[in-house]
Amino acid sequence: MTPSHSHLATAAIQIIRSEDEHVARNYHPLPVVLARGEGVWVTDVEGKRYLDLLSAYSALNFGHRHPSLVAAATEQLGRITLTSRAFHNDQLGAFATALAELCGKQLVLPMNTGAEAVETAIKTARAWGYRVKGIPADAATIVVAHGNFHGRTTTVIGFSDDPDARDDFGPFAPGFAAVPFGDAAAIEAAIDENTAAVLIEPIQGEAGVIVPPEGYLRAVREICTKHDVLMIADEIQSGLGRAGTTFACDREDVVPDMYVLGKALGGGIVPLSAVVADEDVLGVIRPGEHGSTFGGNPLAAAVGLRVVEMLASGEVQVRAQALGEHLEAKLAELVGHGVTAIRVAGVWAGIDIDPAVGTGREVAERLLARGVLVKDTQGQTIRIAPPLVIRATELDWAVEQLKVVLAG
Ligand SMILES: *Cc1c(COP(=O)(O)O)cnc(C)c1O
Repeated sequence: MTPSHSHLATAAIQIIRSEDEHVARNYHPLPVVLARGEGVWVTDVEGKRYLDLLSAYSALNFGHRHPSLVAAATEQLGRITLTSRAFHNDQLGAFATALAELCGKQLVLPMNTGAEAVETAIKTARAWGYRVKGIPADAATIVVAHGNFHGRTTTVIGFSDDPDARDDFGPFAPGFAAVPFGDAAAIEAAIDENTAAVLIEPIQGEAGVIVPPEGYLRAVREICTKHDVLMIADEIQSGLGRAGTTFACDREDVVPDMYVLGKALGGGIVPLSAVVADEDVLGVIRPGEHGSTFGGNPLAAAVGLRVVEMLASGEVQVRAQALGEHLEAKLAELVGHGVTAIRVAGVWAGIDIDPAVGTGREVAERLLARGVLVKDTQGQTIRIAPPLVIRATELDWAVEQLKVVLAG
């Protein structure tokens, strides 16, 4: 299980070259060309297998080509795939009903990508601010957290503090105030009569799986209620079982006013995102005010319904929680041995690499050579978010590979 991947075959090199020539360079992929995937394993063009510990940034919670999800998609491909919402389709209602029930909410607004769902939440919060709360026209503000990642649209990057995300892409939309993540008092201090919402990731994924101090989410909930401000939880990466609970907010028994969902909602097959809220919030959006050509399409709805059904019994979440505890115990052994800190929530971990060992990218490259796929973030951190269907023995093997890499 420890093949040398350091020399790519000509076929792979040619594929990478053609990408380099004709694909814009907005990513810097690791040098591996994937051709197949099944469960937690992917295979490259030369037939080498890798354990996928990234699972498309948590979009593959059920692994690659889960038979039940492929069946739902295949069945729908044989019927109808796209209707636009100029007409009804026979899949959207069932999907929305199931998702609303999973969230304990009344309404679902379906979109495609995560960033679009965040934009939808922002529009909804502003409209709610003007039409329900009575904020003067164009004065609504939204409080966000430092270190946030909510997507790549021009409005969303405007309140990021990552220079790579922002620099040379301005001017940015006004109306956002950023405060330190994990500090509820800072949120309260930033709220005034024109604040429509607080938008946070309950656990910051892209920032390196940053888990806020215990009690933070409950405090944010209380502050939002007290000041008549909407609490928006961007659970695009943290939700749908990743953190060992249906939503990361469940870890503190907190119910936000709006859930923003994406990534795993599409089962790793189609882009599917959604905003989920009650009638008094999402009901402010009127026909013609918001939409998407592909949002709510029957193919995505059929897959999304199956995803929600797979989460409905709670078994996946319980298993993820147990597996996460197992992972945490294994990773804890690495602290002080090439790892400076770990943060684990469910089957999701940020592992800070000791600079003496190398950068996150270098560790990711060495793991690749040992058949393990991970992605670095923030320079010194590697994030792992394997499919929730991974076995404990597979996780152990991966941690073993990391141990070898850290030992140099
Ligand atoms: C990935 C992500 C997004 C953006 O989703 P896209 O589908 O890439 O647009 C937004 N918020 C969070 C927390 C994410 O992890």
